[in-house]
Formats: sequence, C-alpha cells, structure tokens
Amino acid sequence: DFTKSKTISQQRQNLPIFSVRDELLQVVRENQVVVIIGETGSGKTTQLTQYLYEYGYTVNGIIGCTQPRRVAAMSVAKRVSEEMETELGDKVGYAIRFEDATGPSTVIKYMTDGVLLRETLKDPDLEKYSIILMDEAHERSLDTDVLFGILKKVVARRRDFKLIVTSATLNGEKFSNFFGGIPIFHIPGRTFRVQICYSKTPCEDYVEAAIKQAMTIHITGAPGDMLIFLTGQDEIEATCYALSERMEQLISSTKQPVPKLLILPIYSQLPADLQTKIFQKAEDGARKCIVATNIAETSLTIDGIFYVIDTGYGKMKVYNHRMGMDALQVFPISRASADQRAGRAGRTGPGTCYRLYTENAYENEMLQSPVPEIQRTNLGNVVLLLKSLKIQNLLDFDFMDPPPQDNILNSMYQLWLLGALNDVGDLMDLGRKMVKFPLDPALAKLLLMGEQLECLNEVLTIVSMLSVPSVFFRPKDREAESDAAREKFFVPESDHLTLLNVYQQWKANEYRGDWCNDHFLQVKGLYKAREVRSQLLDILKTLKIPLTYCGPDWDVVRKTICSAYFHNAAMLKGIGQYVNCRNRMPCNLHPTSALHGLGYTPDYVVYHEAILTTKEYMQCVTAVEPHWLAELGPMFFSV
Ligand code: ADP
Ligand code: MG
Repeated sequence: DFTKSKTISQQRQNLPIFSVRDELLQVVRENQVVVIIGETGSGKTTQLTQYLYEYGYTVNGIIGCTQPRRVAAMSVAKRVSEEMETELGDKVGYAIRFEDATGPSTVIKYMTDGVLLRETLKDPDLEKYSIILMDEAHERSLDTDVLFGILKKVVARRRDFKLIVTSATLNGEKFSNFFGGIPIFHIPGRTFRVQICYSKTPCEDYVEAAIKQAMTIHITGAPGDMLIFLTGQDEIEATCYALSERMEQLISSTKQPVPKLLILPIYSQLPADLQTKIFQKAEDGARKCIVATNIAETSLTIDGIFYVIDTGYGKMKVYNHRMGMDALQVFPISRASADQRAGRAGRTGPGTCYRLYTENAYENEMLQSPVPEIQRTNLGNVVLLLKSLKIQNLLDFDFMDPPPQDNILNSMYQLWLLGALNDVGDLMDLGRKMVKFPLDPALAKLLLMGEQLECLNEVLTIVSMLSVPSVFFRPKDREAESDAAREKFFVPESDHLTLLNVYQQWKANEYRGDWCNDHFLQVKGLYKAREVRSQLLDILKTLKIPLTYCGPDWDVVRKTICSAYFHNAAMLKGIGQYVNCRNRMPCNLHPTSALHGLGYTPDYVVYHEAILTTKEYMQCVTAVEPHWLAELGPMFFSV
C-alpha cells in the first residue's frame, strides 16, 4: 500500500503543472477570474482542485469543477479520490444527470456543466461554492457557453467567489476578453514530437482503413500503445470485434509468435467499470489499442500512447432544419481537433499520427475550429432555463458567441407549441413546471400531461425508460433469438407502451437480473431507468403532484402520449411511410417498431424523435386516433 501511495505522489509531482503550483496559486489569490491554458495531460483537471483544496479554498464553501462530458466527470472524480486516498463520494464526489455521488463531506465536486447550470435555478448565486473551475472550456459545449454568461454575473455579485476557466487549446484571449481582459496563465508544456503521416488519396472506408493501419502498426511497429479515433458506439464496437477477429486469423495462419493486442473501447455510454480499463497497463509484451470517440481528444488523458490513428471524423449534434430537431451526425473534424488528436501520440515520447485523409483535406477542407454547440443546436432547454431565471429578452443575454437569432426564435416557437410559452414569449405555468425536471421539454411535457389525464404512474415509467439507452440487448450471433424475445413484449399499438410493458413485467418479477438476461434485456439499463424513475418521483413529490394510476386499460396513456407529442404527429403516405403533419417531412416506421405487429399501418401516429440513418426514421412510435389530434390543435392539422 505504501509503494502504491508513493508512486501516486511521485506521479503527481511529475506532472507539468506541479512545477508552477505556487505561481498558479498566487495568480488565483490575486485575481477573481483567471484563464489557465495547458496541454492535455498537464494536470489541470486532476491537480488544480487538489491544490486549491490544500491551499484552503474549502473553508467557506466547496470547489466545483465542471466537465462537458459525463464520462470525464466520473472518471476524473474517481482518480482524484484515489490520489487523495478517500472513498469516491466522500471528500471527492461527482454529479451527473440522475446520478449524485457526493455527500455531506464532499469538498471537491466534479460535475457536468449541465448539472451546475441547473443548480443556478435553485441557487442563482451558487452560494455553496467558493470557487468554480470551468474545465475544458475550449469544447464550447452548449451548457458551458450558457454558464459563461451566468457565472459572469455571479462574479460581479459575489466578491468572495472565484472562477477559473481552463482550456487545452490556445484560445485564451477569447475567454479573457469576455471577462474584461483577465490574466491568462500558461502551464509550460512538455510534449514530444509527433510525426504526421497523411493518406495519399482520400479513403473510401475509414473504418476498414483504420483496422488495416492498426494491424500494420501492431505487426511491424516498435512497442507503444495505440489510439484510434472513430465516431460512435456502433462503429467502435464493430471495429473492436473486427480487430479481434483479424488477430485470431493471424495467430492461426502464422507460425511466428504474435504479440498480444489488448483491444479496449471507450465511448460515453460504456458502463463505468469498462471505462476505467483504458487506464490500465497492458501486460508485458502486449500492446494496448484503445478505440475511442472524440472523448479521448482532450477530456481523458491516457499515458503510453505512441500511435494515433485519426479517421478525420467525429459525431456532432446539429440542428436539422428538415427534421425540425437536433440530430447526431458524422462530420469531418476541424484542424484544431486533428491537432489535439495527433498530440495524444506525443505525451510519453516521440510518436506517430496516421491521418486517414489527405494533407490537402487538412489544409483546405477542414474548418479551423469546431462551430460552438450553441450555434448549431436546438435551444429549447436553454430558453426555458433563462426564462425561469427571469431573463426577459434572450437576445440581450451576454453570450460569448450569440446563437443565430433564428435558432432562438425557432426554439421559442417549439416551446410555444408545447404550451410552455405564451403568445408573447413569456413563461406559462406549464413551462414553469417543466423546467423543474432535468428532462428535454417534450419529455417534461409528457410527464405533466400524465398528471392532467390521470395516468402519471404509467407515464412516469415511460419517461424514465426513454431517458436511458435502449434496454433491448441484441448480441451479435444471437440476433434472431433476441428479436423474438423483444417481440414478446410488443404492445402492437405503441412502442411507448411496449417500454411500459417491459418495465412492469420486470417489476412483477421482483426486478430480477437473471430475468433480464433470460429476456435479452440490459440489466444495467433497467436499473438506471428505475433510478431515474425514483428521482423524477422525488421531484413530483416536492411539487406536490400525486401519482395517479390508470389501471390495465392503456388507451388513456396513448391519448396522453398523443397530447404531449402532437408536434411529432405523422400521417400515413404509403406502406411504412409517413409524413410529419406540420412540416411534411417524410419519416419511416423503423424495422424494430412494435407497430409491425399490428398487421396494418395506422393512419396517424406520434413519435418520440426522428433519427437519421440511411433515411429518416421515427424512433418510438404510438398509433393515435385522428380525433385526438383534431381536439388538440386544429391549427396544425387538416385532419
Ligand atoms: P489535463 O486535465 O491537463 O488534461 P489531467 O489532470 O486529466 O490532465 O491528467 C493528468 C495525469 O493524470 C494524466 O497524465 C494521467 O497520467 C493521470 N490520470 C488522469 N486520469 C486518470 C485515471 N482515471 N486513471 C489513471 N491516471 C489518470
Ligand atoms: Mg482535463
């Protein structure tokens, strides 16, 4: 145990930030707001909070550190609690949506920027914090950008409050100017040269190209771990699978000894216990290969990487005008991201980055830096939040980069459709209630319609199930079997009711894990749904909204779903083909929908959201009666 703690403190003292510890603390002491710039891995996220704690900044409040990503908040809190030799949730804790791992003795709290943003609703001056670190500010996430404007006011109101903004890229000026020209502190870097190798021609299949490149490195390259950047979960899982298959083929086709390859995925939805694996060293003689989303660009630091394979793509949430909503789409990354990705190969020694795109693409096709999220996504939640913070005119809010006016107006229009805003854009009672829930406006509305139509218990379950990743488990090589298991749960009129049915059957089977396994359901997902449900129930209790049960006849639940989702109502156009009633956008019934079990296609449906894959699909669909729609909003429909 002693050697372990010794190495940890040695590791801490080895970080670039350690050499400037005293200067840093002095700058923070002498200024209310500072910007700190440091390379990824210099120790900003894990060390700064500890320095501040050691210096005594937790006498009159706690230290908060925001992260744009949930995985980062969890993983960093875990690491820091280890460094400080306390249990996670004790002195060091974290909070992400629907998960609070902090306690009465927590003095360093890592959290997503969204969690802090919601805390401002209850405590506009953030009284419990003596200092806030806005970490990873260069990511310019939507919530970070809104926090900038809000924290600027807290800084003006509270002389005893300090704010530190950290960034891994050299855009400090922008942050400094926003706060009226505050000091910028640079942590001296310690990085090694990274050789960049471009593709000679644009590659057609970047997944295949990445797999080939990884195998070549593994067989011919000098020792050193590898990091591959891809766009998302499915792609990453498929790549890991393909890599392990290629390794097996290689081992059985050659007499030469083949060194081991330890293949590890990392993406936001990966269960926490698997996430921490990426930090473990591979056994002697083995090479580690991490297959990641852009989460490994700057938010998580992995030591020992000598090779980076950069496909040049990443997923981004972008408002899709045709669909009238946000959609995750694959885009070419920016030059700033490409440089960050390459930098990951040069932390431990000189490394190599293989870019699976041409030098011309890098120079002439990529944007300089990514477009801030606030300029490309739906602002429904932000508008609701700012309105309840009594900010009358959103166009006047102090945004670092204001969103396009169209974005604001469009989001206000959607909130008006939901009944959250009135005709002049002021918050209605419904909107005021909606903002109490950490949910997207449409789901909050669904919950509150459940109250009105007296089936809150059932709707609460549906909302909880929609707030977690799909609970249906579909392992490769057992697809037919798992599809059959899924179909047993179908309520043919509705995917929403199918989710309700799954949950209620799970409950009837004492919430058992083995029951989930037998029925191809994700145990962890269902536990998460139960946890979400109990938290939403707590909020309902504080609002004094009683649970109502509708009993076995679920037609009223469908009617409730209809009334909450009428902005996503669609009418039949052809077999499996629908168009949105409002904007005529085509949307198709997804092959996995329970409605295929009806034996006919209903004339009218509502859906949870549209997803864009090969075409626009409706995700989670419920058949509705045309007269329900007509009663709701004659102005939108020619029913
Ligand atoms: P920065 O925020 O400047 O990018 P961090 O504070 O995240 O840097 O990381 C500093 C060092 O801490 C990393 O080089 C890494 O060695 C170590 N580290 C961070 N997180 C973990 C973790 N979860 N497990 C093991 N080591 C970690
Ligand atoms: Mg960091």
